Amino acid sequence: MKPVLALFVFVDACGWEIIKDHPFARTHAPVRRKLTSVFGFSSACIPSILSGRWPVSHRNWCYFVFDPVNSPFRFLRHLRWLPRALTSRRFFRHRLSKLLKVHLKFRGYFDLYNIPFEFISLFDFSEKKNPLQPGGLNVGPNIFDHLQERGIPYHVSDPTRTERQSLDALLTEITAEKIDFAWLYWPDLDGVLHRVGNLSPEVPAKLAAYEPWLDELMTRAREHYGEVKLTIFSDHGMANCDTLLDLRARIEPLGLRMGVDYAVVYDSTMGRFWFFNNRARELVTASLLEVAGGRILPDAELEKLGTLFPDRYFGELIFLTDEGVLIVPSHMGERPIRAMHGYHPDAPHSYASLLTNYDAVPAHITAIPHVYELMTTQAEQAFKANGRPRQRSQ
Ligand SMILES: [Zn+2]
Repeated sequence: MKPVLALFVFVDACGWEIIKDHPFARTHAPVRRKLTSVFGFSSACIPSILSGRWPVSHRNWCYFVFDPVNSPFRFLRHLRWLPRALTSRRFFRHRLSKLLKVHLKFRGYFDLYNIPFEFISLFDFSEKKNPLQPGGLNVGPNIFDHLQERGIPYHVSDPTRTERQSLDALLTEITAEKIDFAWLYWPDLDGVLHRVGNLSPEVPAKLAAYEPWLDELMTRAREHYGEVKLTIFSDHGMANCDTLLDLRARIEPLGLRMGVDYAVVYDSTMGRFWFFNNRARELVTASLLEVAGGRILPDAELEKLGTLFPDRYFGELIFLTDEGVLIVPSHMGERPIRAMHGYHPDAPHSYASLLTNYDAVPAHITAIPHVYELMTTQAEQAFKANGRPRQRSQ
């Protein structure tokens, strides 16, 4: 039996609006708080949680960036001759993404999504490493670098495993009493919400399915640790998409040439633009000012959100849609999906949640990057209480 386990359970997209009136995890983690998210998708939110920093500092924000010089995708241009009926198919792109991930030695999550092969050589992919590993962020350390440096024994899930496999892997480590700190990764609620929306009965059903797993986890943890400090948390919520916006149809008639006059990545909720002449900048800006359902984010606002990059690496102009407005078609998807995140952090469904089995959450823990402070503090406490890990005999 060891004295303390710091147990962190990440439930992707378990937003405040989704659980505020739902008894999810109340028996194990009755203390609840709403957290402000970080502007961006999970590609921005998870690195922010893992580092206690905002995107401008760790530089993990949106996946695709205009960077033809460093583009690893040049050879894919040849695929532009294949029929669109094939190359826009999810199945085809999914298989190709898997092959490319191995070929390009990307260690994080990788998907080609819906970027046309005609333009793919203009772009680089900004998450080449696995953020859930030491050295996994583009700039600076994450919690796993910190734990490694301090010599604190920890467990983190392998995101390529299923949720049940990740739970089993953690249960094994808990039984062996090897660790002081654990980070369990449960990503599947996000997929359910994208598919069915936040009002479907499938959502409470998925939450209910986590309960016996949490029972199992806490029972096992208490058998091996005197005190288990449990923190369940998320990165963002999920808004239903009831309005579709064909942003591309507003830009293409301007007659500007992609890669010559301008470049754009259409994310699901954002259009990120780069300009190569003033005419393109003026035409696109004027056109976006006329678009209902979204707005250009001023620099002052981007700065407040921690997403104003001095080198404009992720785009010179950021157009963001209002909550519930989905850009379709986009470079993320050809077809609509029921719900999305990546809206303004002030939008009602953007808020994340923090559920704990301890009261002493400091008042200044109000945004998802603050979870980092809870992680480091509790890892230190557990490490101190548990003593140095025993050296393994040969
Ligand atoms: Zn998602």
